[in-house]
This record gives sequence, structure tokens and C-alpha cells, in this order.
Amino acid sequence: MILNTDVLIIGAGITGLNFALNLRDDLDIIVLAKNSLQECNSYLAQGGISVLRNENDYEAYIGDTLSAGGFKNKRQAVEILVKESRAAIKRLEQLEVPFNRDKNGELIYTREGAHSINRIVHCDDNTGEQLHKVLEKKVREKTNVKLIENCFFADLLASKNRCVGALAINEGKELNIIAKTTIIATGGIGGLFKNSTNFHSISGDGIAIAIKNNIKVEHLNYIQFHPTSFYEDIEDKRRLLISEAVRGEGGRLLNKEGSRFVNELLPRDKVTEAIIKEELKYKSNHVYLDISFLEKDFVLKRFPNIYKNCLERGIDITKEPIPVTPAQHYFMGGIKVDMYCRTSMENLYAAGEVSSTGLHGANRLASNSLLESLVFSNRAVEYINRTISPYSVIFKELIKKSDGDKDYYNNSLSIILQQEIKKVRGDIINELVAL
Ligand SMILES: Cc1cc2nc3c(=O)[nH]c(=O)nc-3n(C[C@H](O)[C@H](O)[C@H](O)COP(=O)(O)OP(=O)(O)OC[C@H]3O[C@@H](n4cnc5c(N)ncnc54)[C@H](O)[C@@H]3O)c2cc1C
Repeated sequence: MILNTDVLIIGAGITGLNFALNLRDDLDIIVLAKNSLQECNSYLAQGGISVLRNENDYEAYIGDTLSAGGFKNKRQAVEILVKESRAAIKRLEQLEVPFNRDKNGELIYTREGAHSINRIVHCDDNTGEQLHKVLEKKVREKTNVKLIENCFFADLLASKNRCVGALAINEGKELNIIAKTTIIATGGIGGLFKNSTNFHSISGDGIAIAIKNNIKVEHLNYIQFHPTSFYEDIEDKRRLLISEAVRGEGGRLLNKEGSRFVNELLPRDKVTEAIIKEELKYKSNHVYLDISFLEKDFVLKRFPNIYKNCLERGIDITKEPIPVTPAQHYFMGGIKVDMYCRTSMENLYAAGEVSSTGLHGANRLASNSLLESLVFSNRAVEYINRTISPYSVIFKELIKKSDGDKDYYNNSLSIILQQEIKKVRGDIINELVAL
């Protein structure tokens, strides 16, 4: 089966949905999800989204991101992220994403490891789920967007380094989707690991297909292990993440003897390393994260989902420490993109966790991932909206209007082409004048 579209978005996490919502209404858009729409890592995000707190925070936020990334970050990407963070959050506020607010209606900011101040906005402790729900609802209201679930992206359709769409498998049938612009937003690689906080189905498919098609990828060894996933003796099951925000609110890491062994707010790689050392020292497969000394009401209000999920596993976090151990969590490398998410293949974009903007360096600062998805997809949207050929839209309108009348079609077309030629001439003259 063959489908034609203006834009094909592969992936329906926060990244894919943000594209679908903000691309022009006059473009035909198809969005693919491998399984259900909810089976994406975006849905699992707990802690929140970082944002520039105020102008005084500019250097500090950049410094925190660089330092967490081991100074391997691309500075330009970090500056863009920080500068455009407030606008990205403002857009979400306009969509009425239910961020936690104080009595005066002001956003509440929390803190996570390696942040020097509180600068993370959140929706309780399931920010990703609440954000995804809002975006999904808004996307479903758009008549130009077609969402296809249970549709497996199998390969790109490309010729001479020019992407013309993708091959997918939907309910056992081949689907050739021809698209002017294709966006890969297939997320990370956690499904390749035995112990990961990711959904197993998020398994690096986008990267594998990029490599197969000779598209540039980078930093494939930059893989982040989160220090605190709930320890349980299970195989083949996603590991429950105990958000960094638990440590941000004062949670303490304890070894088998009940002693603290590390500054809990160090970057993730440092805390992970310290936990592994402790586990080896005590020949144990976990350490403990204790938050039971905090006010019970506060814990229940701040971490309702972590409380519920731990209780289901036999641990009451208001009374006892949580057994935790590191697990694969995030992929900083990926398909190499520029600051508009353009890949090395023409007409092909990549965004979100599958992409490498270079922003995170060798280790991601907590809560910078959703923000990266939003900021860079917003930039790519703006670029695509401005540059995607308007002709298909014009032709579609014209065919509809002419209703089979060839003369009407030809005359209208020649008027449109003359107008376009004038515009192009105007642009060239302007460029020459500017020179
Ligand atoms: C437990 C957990 C907690 C987190 N907490 C935070 C947090 O608090 N703050 C933060 O900033 N980040 C957090 N992160 C990281 C963040 O959630 C992800 O990096 C981000 O959501 C990735 O978004 P995405 O749109 O790129 O990918 P995803 O949300 O993972 O979406 C990928 C999409 O691609 C589709 N797909 C994949 N392969 C195929 C295929 N072959 N065919 C078709 N479709 C395919 C999937 O179906 C899915 O729709 C967390 C991650 C996890 C796992």
C-alpha cells in the first residue's frame, strides 16, 4: 500500500507530537507509533522540565549543563537550549499543561542533581504523562494529522542521499509512505539493555536505520545510567525509576551499614559510579535511598506515583528506605543534527532522544531531555513551516477549485507561477542589494 503525505513523523513521544501540533495546518501529516501512543519514554518522565529561572540564572544554567556533560557539550546547542527554554515553557502554559503552582499561581520550581538552583517545573511526579496527554488531545483536534499506532518503521525510502519517505509494517502489511519531509523521532536505546528504565520497545530502531542508510551518527558510546532505579529481582521488565527529584528534595543514599557515602546531588555518572563501588564493596546488588525522615504529608503530595509504585512492590517510602541500583536510562549520542534538526540526508530531520545536537555532552543534566525535545523541535518546525514547498498545497487547492475545468486550471496555474517568479526575482534582487 502507498500513502502520500507532506510530512511523515516517525514517533509519537513528546517530540513527535510537538511537531505534529505546530507544523502548518495546510500540510498533510502522518505520525507513526510502534505500539500504542502511550508506550513511549516521554510518558514515563517523572521529574520535570528544566527552564532558565531568570536572567541572572543564564551563566549558572549553562555552567551546570556543561559541567554535568564533562565539558564535552556543544556550547552553541547549550546556549540555544537555555535562551529558548522560557519560550518553550510559555507555549506549554498556553496549552494549559497543569504545572504545579503555588497559592499565587506562580510556577513551583524543584531541584535535581547537578543543578545549582531550583529551576525545574513539573506536574506532580508524572510530568511526562500529563504533558503527553495534553499534546495528544490537541493533536487529535487537528484534521490534517493522521495518527497510526502499531506501525513499525522498517526502513527509509531514499535515493542519492535524498529521503522520500519510509517503509513501515502495519498489521502485517507493507506501507510505503512517500513524504516531502521525514522526521525521525524514535527515542532512545533502552530496549537493548537488560536493566533499563525505558520501555523495551524503545530499542534504537531509528539509529540502526540511520546507520544502514549511511546517515551521520555520533557519540554512540555516550550512554547514561541513572543511579536510582528500584531494585527488584526480576528479568525482562522495565526498571521503575526513582526520580532524581527524590534526592533533590533531600533524599539520602545509604549503604548496607546505613551510612551515607556520596553527595546525592552530584551529576548522574558520579553518583552511579559511587553506588557501583559501594555495591562491589558490600557484595550487594543494591543500596538504599531514604526519604522516610521527611514529613509524610509532603512525601505523599510531592511523590504520589513513586509512593504508589513502591508500595505495590512492598516498600512504604514514608516509613522505610527504598532499595535502589543503577540502570540504563538515556542516550546522549545519536543521529547527528544541526541546530534545526537537519541530518546529513536531504529532506530528513531527527529530533528528541534519537538525535545528537551535542547539547548533553557525555552525560545529560537532569530534566534537560524533555526541554531539548521541545526547544529543538520548535526550531525545526519553524524552519520546515518556512521552507517546505508550498506548491503541493497550491496544486491541491487548485485541483479542487477547477473541478475538472482544464482551462481554469491552466490559467490559474500560469498566474500563480508568474507571481512566484516575481517573488523569486525580488528575493534575488534583495540578496544582491544586501551584498
Ligand atoms: C523513567 C524515565 C523518566 C524520565 N524522566 C525525565 C524527566 O523528568 N525529565 C526529562 O527531561 N527527561 C526525562 N526522561 C527522558 C525523557 O523522557 C526522554 O528522553 C524523552 O521523553 C524522549 O522523547 P522522544 O519523543 O525523543 O522519544 P519517546 O518519548 O521515547 O518516543 C519514541 C516514539 O518513537 C516510536 N518508535 C520507536 N521505534 C519505532 C519504530 N521502529 N517504528 C515506529 N515508531 C517507533 C515509539 O512508538 C514512540 O512513539 C525520562 C526517561 C525515563 C525512561
